[in-house]
Amino acid sequence: MAEMSDYCPICGGNISDGSATFTADLGSGMVVVRHVPARVCQQCGEDWIEDTVAAHLEKIVTDARVGGKIVEVVDLLAA
Ligand SMILES: [Zn+2]
Repeated sequence: MAEMSDYCPICGGNISDGSATFTADLGSGMVVVRHVPARVCQQCGEDWIEDTVAAHLEKIVTDARVGGKIVEVVDLLAA
């Protein structure tokens, strides 16, 4: 994972705290996680998710894969 900084490595824009939508294609299904806390570039919209959050997302993806759902939508604000 790239190191966190205040400037976007892609466009050089300012990065600040925000939220992102995470999607994972499982092949047989899909997982969508909304309102994921992330660092978001104000200029190009690129987002970076911290390791602790990424680990949480990984668990959601694993659970969805085991559950065998076609589409799983999780909203972290509602969780
Ligand atoms: Zn950027």
